[in-house]
Formats: sequence, structure tokens, C-alpha cells
Amino acid sequence: MSVFTAAADQSICAPLPVLGKDVTVPLVTGGEVTYAALDYAASAPALQRVWDDVAAYAPYYGSVHRGAGYLSQLSTDLFESSRATVAEFLGCRADDQVVFTRSTTDSLNLLAAAVPADCQVFVFETEHHASLLPWRDARVTYLNAPRTPAQAVATLERALADRDPSPSSQLRSSGGGPTGPALVCVTGASNVTGELWPVKELAAAAHAHGARIVLDAAQLAPHHPVDIAELDVDWVAFSGHKLYAPFGSGVLAGRSDWLRDADPYLAGGGASRKVARRAGGGVDVEWHTTAARHEAGSPNVIGVYSIASACKALTEAGFEGLVAREQQLVTAVRAGLAEVPAVKVLSLFGDEAPRVGVISFVVEGWNSSHFAAALSAEYGIGVRDGLFCAHPLVRTLLGSDPQDVGECGAPEAEPGERSLNAIRVSFGAGT
Ligand code: PLP
Repeated sequence: MSVFTAAADQSICAPLPVLGKDVTVPLVTGGEVTYAALDYAASAPALQRVWDDVAAYAPYYGSVHRGAGYLSQLSTDLFESSRATVAEFLGCRADDQVVFTRSTTDSLNLLAAAVPADCQVFVFETEHHASLLPWRDARVTYLNAPRTPAQAVATLERALADRDPSPSSQLRSSGGGPTGPALVCVTGASNVTGELWPVKELAAAAHAHGARIVLDAAQLAPHHPVDIAELDVDWVAFSGHKLYAPFGSGVLAGRSDWLRDADPYLAGGGASRKVARRAGGGVDVEWHTTAARHEAGSPNVIGVYSIASACKALTEAGFEGLVAREQQLVTAVRAGLAEVPAVKVLSLFGDEAPRVGVISFVVEGWNSSHFAAALSAEYGIGVRDGLFCAHPLVRTLLGSDPQDVGECGAPEAEPGERSLNAIRVSFGAGT
């Protein structure tokens, strides 16, 4: 346990303060202990700076866009300047849109609703369900789990080449080759193994075959700079609550054409520019062509403002130092786990693969759910157990049959039996 408490002690408090650092929890053995939150991959504690920014905004609380009053103008200013902050954080290109959503899941579902009807989607079966499942109505090709980053690129290349008889045709502006538009969806950092995926190389492969690519940066953005232009990806999605902001807001940023041409994700006020009665009955609607097209209804201004505040805080803290510090923690925790013979750390790409502060493992002879519960009850350490909404990947890593596995997080094995779930510790140096 000391390996986790040490990581928790080091990750919480510095260099950016978070709320909750002094939470004490009762232990079953009596007494209480400072809570060690090691479930950042699910939701990272919000930064003090973010709460301070929100509190400073509270006196000026007003509706955005549709109010003429001073407070509304101020809110609108904050909302739109948050969009500019996020665009800068992501290194957006001039014609990119930043659409505010509820989460990464929401962002990817929005994109799935916006892809052209004949779009073919390529996705690795190892993806988080948020990246794996939204495409169910599109023509989807599921790619086998690669065992190295190079294999991931080769697998994608092969699948795209099979589709595209003329890989030299680069119809990027339309996102389509001779066989129609195609989209690749890939995660930047795994929420199970923490391993980094070769995003730049996958983007190059996609583009060489006339396909587009969306990056699920839910686990990457809190740990590494994500530069949309430098990575040369077409879209990026991430969630505020994993980036040290409160719950409830997310981002889809990237190319505007498919978003502009698609039906609004939600129909309603704010998305519509002009609505007129049609002669003979009904209404004609002219929808916005900007990000507002997909942001109907009153937006989550506080959530959006919080994301922008977190983006600024991370940028000001400097990713270089944050990455270095997090890597020290990753090394320390992995070394500590390696000393326990019963522990098997899960990895797709192997020990040497670069990774963020997300580490999953099983403990021989232990049911993972019971182990995680014991960490909480006896040591005050909060980890996650289960399949982490990436069932196919965790099954592959555990070598279990699909039939073995119950619902996400369900304890299927008794103590002493082989566990069908895993345990995950996750942390970041953004706190
Ligand atoms: N993608 C990855 C890699 C994730 O880890 C998660 C959440 O854990 C998501 C997408 C979905 O994020 P959200 O639940 O904020 O929509």
C-alpha cells in the first residue's frame, strides 16, 4: 500500500493546488486518514484556481447571447473568450470550430451524427466505449488490438489500403477518397494502460488514404500538450472533468465543414439563425453555420468557463514540468508494483512504452473488486476496479473470454479465484 500512499502524497498539492486535499476518511480498522484520490482518469479533482475563477465570475452571472443587459454581455464575453482560450490551448487552425459539449462522449456522438451518411469509420477494438460505440449507424471497420505502436499504424494502413485502391489520392479537403469519406477514431492515451498511441503517425496514415481522423484526448489532454495542427488531426475531443475542471462540460474542436453541413445535434434556440412561418403551414429554419449550430439551448457557461480556466492554469504551470513530474510518479509506482510478485501490470505495448499516470493491474489470488474495496476501507485510498468502459481491451489484456465478463465493475470472481476485473490507479501532476 505504501506505493500508493507515496504516489498520493506526492501528486496532491503541488504544483497546482486542488480542493479536497485535506479530506479525511474513516477506516474500518478505526481512526481516520487523509484520503488519497487515485482515480484521476475517471475525474480529476478540480483545481483551486478553477474554483476561484468561477467564484469571481459568480457576481456577474447572466444568460449568454440573448440578453441585452450588462450581465448578459459580460457572460457572453466570458463564454466566447473561453472558446478562444480553448482554441489556443489546442493550437486550432484558422477554420477550426470549437463546439462546447457535455463531455468527450457527447463530443464523439456529435461527430458521429455529423459524419456524411456514406462515411466509413475505422476504430480499434481497444478503444474506450465512448470512441468505440457512437459509430454504430455508420459503416464501421473494427481493427484488431495491436501489440506495438508500429503495428497499430500498419494495421490501419492495411485497412485503409483495402478500402482505397488508390492510396495516392489525397482528397483531404472533402475527407474522401475514391470510395467515399472515411474517418479514423483513436485515443491519444489509454484509460486502461496509460500507454500513448502514435497519433501523429496514425494521422499521417489516415490522410495518405484520404481519410480523416478524430483524436479522443480525454486521457491525453490532462497530461500532455495537444496541438491539433502539430498532430495534424482533424478533430479533438476531451472532457473538462478529467482536465481539473468540474463536471458537465466538454469540447469537440476541429474542421468545420462536416459540422457546418450536418443537421444540428440539438434543434432549438441558439442553433437557429432565422425561423419563419412557411406559406401553407410549417416553419422554415436557417441554422447557424458556426459552432452555435450544435449548441442549442442555454449553455453550461460555468462549465465552459471552468474548462478555459483549467486550460490557462495548465499552460501557465507549463506542461514540460508537469510531464517530468508525472513521469517520476509513474516510474515510482511501477517500480513499487514490480516488487510485489503477485501483481501483474496490464500493458498492450510493453514495459518500455511511453505512458501517462494511468496504471491497471491484477493481484494474483485476489478478486480485484475486493482488493479495491480493501484499499478504500483499510487505507483510505480511492482507486477504480472493473473493466473501465473498455471491455474488449481489458478482456484481451486479462486473457478472459467475453462470456466470463459481467457488467462493468461487477465482481464475478470469489476471493482466491482468478479475477475478471482489474484495478486501476491514476494520478496527474496537474495537482
Ligand atoms: N475516452 C476515454 C479515453 C476515456 O477515458 C473516457 C472516460 O473515462 C471517455 C472517453 C469518456 O469521457 P466522458 O465520460 O467524460 O464522456
